[in-house]
Amino acid sequence: MDGGFRAWGYALGRVVGVAVLGLLVGWAIGHPWWGLAGALALAALGLWRNLYRLEDWLRHRNRMTPPDAGGLWGDVVSQVSRLHRRKQFHKQRMLALFRELRRSSASMPDGVVVLNAGHEILWFNRKAGELLGLRRKTDFGIPLASLLRLPEFGRYLAKGDFSSALRLQRRIGEAVWLEFQAMPYGEGQLVLLVRDVTRQAQLETMRKDFVANASHELRSPLTVIAGYLETLSTEPDLPADLRPPMQEMRRQSERMTAIISDLLELSRLEASDEQVAGEEIDVTALLAVLARDLRTRDGARHEVEVRVESGDRLRADEGLLHSAFWNLVDNASKYTPAGGRITLRWWVDEDGGHFSVTDTGPGIPPEHLPRLTERFYRVDPGRARDAGGSGLGLAIVRHVMQRHGGELAIRSEAGQGSTFTCHLPVTRIVRQPVALPDESGYAPGQRA
Ligand code: ADP
Repeated sequence: MDGGFRAWGYALGRVVGVAVLGLLVGWAIGHPWWGLAGALALAALGLWRNLYRLEDWLRHRNRMTPPDAGGLWGDVVSQVSRLHRRKQFHKQRMLALFRELRRSSASMPDGVVVLNAGHEILWFNRKAGELLGLRRKTDFGIPLASLLRLPEFGRYLAKGDFSSALRLQRRIGEAVWLEFQAMPYGEGQLVLLVRDVTRQAQLETMRKDFVANASHELRSPLTVIAGYLETLSTEPDLPADLRPPMQEMRRQSERMTAIISDLLELSRLEASDEQVAGEEIDVTALLAVLARDLRTRDGARHEVEVRVESGDRLRADEGLLHSAFWNLVDNASKYTPAGGRITLRWWVDEDGGHFSVTDTGPGIPPEHLPRLTERFYRVDPGRARDAGGSGLGLAIVRHVMQRHGGELAIRSEAGQGSTFTCHLPVTRIVRQPVALPDESGYAPGQRA
């Protein structure tokens, strides 16, 4: 028999004992039932007294010591006081942990704001208060976007796409660049990290300015050198042994000119993150120009195919788009060995407009694909330089696509050829009445 049963047995025994005693005393005075009733009333009083002491202690348990009772009541009191002690212990632990968290979050170099599903402020640390100008007492429960009054930030929260960070400028006294990264959790709540990236933004601007200025400064002397080299290399009196080095100098000066003009183009593209509005472009005509220039550039080295599968126009900056598409066409021509095939394709579907250049060249091993659009990144540096590339072509294409809200996708397999596709958003497509295709599936006169 365990302790619980024993206590119950003892309590029952006591009640029975008191009842029997009452009966006996009542019997002795000639009123056994009165005796029993009196004894039971006394037992009930005892119970009430214990109940009262227990209730009193429970109400004031933080100040009072537990009542001293034996038997069943003692068991109840000791169990309740054990539960109470355990609860106190956990409470202290949680409090200590919470204080620790608060202290560590205060020393964090980044701002942290916790928002509920309605994007109202639940909590923020000291750094977030400093960066965003939040006040502890008054700003809890207020929608963060309405406090910051930065339309771009409001759009970032409303859009709900937190795959990338948002960088924007805020003026509180002097201009500060802030970077926001939201992380959703639970049911629509957000943890928002805020960082002061003013220093990085300044360095970035300095870097961009430096590249733009250096390219600009180098352009004029290089134009003079290239001009003289051209004149000299066509000079009939030039000694025969000077001709090869002169040719090489010309070739290298042309490469330098190409690099500088690409650097300047990249600088112009980087000068703003804003989307270009552009004008309506006849893509069919643009592809015809690209195909013509490609044939002129490469003689009959490759078979060139043009597949225009839609007559829809595109709203874009024609100069930028031509430059991007030409870079892809030029690469295909440079890297595809003679006898290969180059296909230019334009089509429109529910996702938007797509321009692709497919070649049957050497292809690109998969480990290079993620880095291909970095500046000066080359799969085979020696060969790319021989082909006369600046190493900036794909970086330019990527930027042009970004400025149009589109993206560059690259599919390639070593030894199988490559496909570079520019995906442009559906909002830039200007639908045209459908031209009836011939039986080959392409509009008349659009297949090379
Ligand atoms: P580059 O001026 O060197 O061509 P790009 O930025 O245009 O610079 O291209 C980067 C690198 O990607 C190239 O050096 C080349 O190694 C690789 N590449 C680009 N297009 C192709 C292609 N069509 N086939 C194979 N490799 C390519």
